[in-house]
Amino acid sequence: MQDRTKIYIDGAWVASAGTGTIDVVNATSEEVIAQIADGTVDDVNQAVAAAKAALPGWSATSPDERAKYLQRLSEGLGARLDEIATTVTAEVGTPYIISQMAQAGLPAMMAGSYVEITQQFEWEERIDNSLVVREPIGVVGCITPWNYPLHQVVAKVAPALAAGCTVVLKPSQVAPLSAYILAEIFDEIELPKGVFNLVSGAGRVLGEAIVEHPDVSMVSFTGSTRAGRRIMELAAGQIKKVALELGGKSAFVILPDAPADEAVAAGIQSGFLNGGQTCISWTRMLVPASRRDELVAKAKAIAESYAPGDPMDPSTMLGPLVSKSQQESVRSYIEKGVAEGATLVTGGAEQPEQCEKGYFVKPTVFADVTNDMTIAQEEIFGPVLSIIVYEDEDDAIRIANDTIYGLHGGVYGGDKDHALAVAKRLQTGQVDVNGVSFNVKAPFGGYKQSGLGREYGRYGLEEFLEVKAIQIP
Ligand code: NAD
Repeated sequence: MQDRTKIYIDGAWVASAGTGTIDVVNATSEEVIAQIADGTVDDVNQAVAAAKAALPGWSATSPDERAKYLQRLSEGLGARLDEIATTVTAEVGTPYIISQMAQAGLPAMMAGSYVEITQQFEWEERIDNSLVVREPIGVVGCITPWNYPLHQVVAKVAPALAAGCTVVLKPSQVAPLSAYILAEIFDEIELPKGVFNLVSGAGRVLGEAIVEHPDVSMVSFTGSTRAGRRIMELAAGQIKKVALELGGKSAFVILPDAPADEAVAAGIQSGFLNGGQTCISWTRMLVPASRRDELVAKAKAIAESYAPGDPMDPSTMLGPLVSKSQQESVRSYIEKGVAEGATLVTGGAEQPEQCEKGYFVKPTVFADVTNDMTIAQEEIFGPVLSIIVYEDEDDAIRIANDTIYGLHGGVYGGDKDHALAVAKRLQTGQVDVNGVSFNVKAPFGGYKQSGLGREYGRYGLEEFLEVKAIQIP
């Protein structure tokens, strides 16, 4: 069992001020694989003091110098790819084959993308008689969830460091271990002391202490809409800037002229990615009424090919969910779907036969879902897809946009230009047309209750910058 009870403050591994610990559990074997410190407000105070002390030096470095550290960070992550993938597969249950890319490769790529962005960014601009300069906002608190634990950390820490900010990170206590690998890499590349600090513990204690600390200038949060709302309330007391990446209930519109196999496969792949524990998953599949039977049959066949199994097996595409409580929550949504009258096409709330242990949920597809049902409105965060029929294109757009969320979406059609026109009508921060791939430099974030602000690329960097206009003669 790993002992991760030390935290990383001011360039050193130190003991937490508290004595409590939190167990980290393997999602497949249900065994405890590590312990982290259940930290205290004192830890946050120490970490913020270190970040504050490091700020003048770090913010005065040149963008080129900061870019060099980001390059080393990217290389350091790349060198430990396999260890990171295995670690996240153990704690989250992500199939290893997907972890290699989404849990390990993506953070290295994200860190690397900021090398060029930092070097090429326009740090100063002239507007008539004004010189407009971009300055780091200050000490940043980063609070992150468990589903893509390292990616979500790096998507905040890399641009914050690029901007010249210093950081206090509180990763999810459910899947924290990759954040310790990140701290080890910062230590190895000799990032100046205090620029990056890691604390660990419960959200309501440490997370809220970070948000309320007067020396923290901004909080960048990814997680549930519930916690995001609480963070915004707390930040309001100090008019503190918050960037929020929250939940989603994304729609995938299959147009009448779409090829059935490719479209349904793309929809299921998104819906079941990381066991459906993906904020951008397309969990509502909108199909034309005229093709309902054909597309539901296709969805059933493809979903059933996602056999739950050992996530370390390279043929597994569906691992366990992250925790017992997540498994119970997803099962109760499946029961609610049945109770509200949706047709259970495949799956269900029972433990899959071939998996005795582990927090598994069967790949589940509901048809005849109406958009007012709970399973169509609430984020389930499990392998549960809702198929909803629409009458015409306006109806499809109305259903897609009838949600409190607006994080992501997809459109699939036979005519790319027409699909693009439909994509433009979706009220959401990102849309994929005809199953194209993820872009680490494109702005990522939500409309409506999916969040505030944008991550990734140049937009992600700008979140961590203040804007100052200096009028000169
Ligand atoms: P969560 O909100 O429970 O926890 C996220 C983080 O916030 C954890 O580190 C937690 O300890 C901390 N936290 C909890 N309560 C807090 C409080 N009152 N004050 C400060 N910090 C607090 O979310 P989770 O269960 O870890 O993650 C799943 C959720 O994250 C889903 O709703 C999912 O949609 C969302 N998510 C969003 C994105 C995105 O980019 N939009 C990405 C991934 C996950």
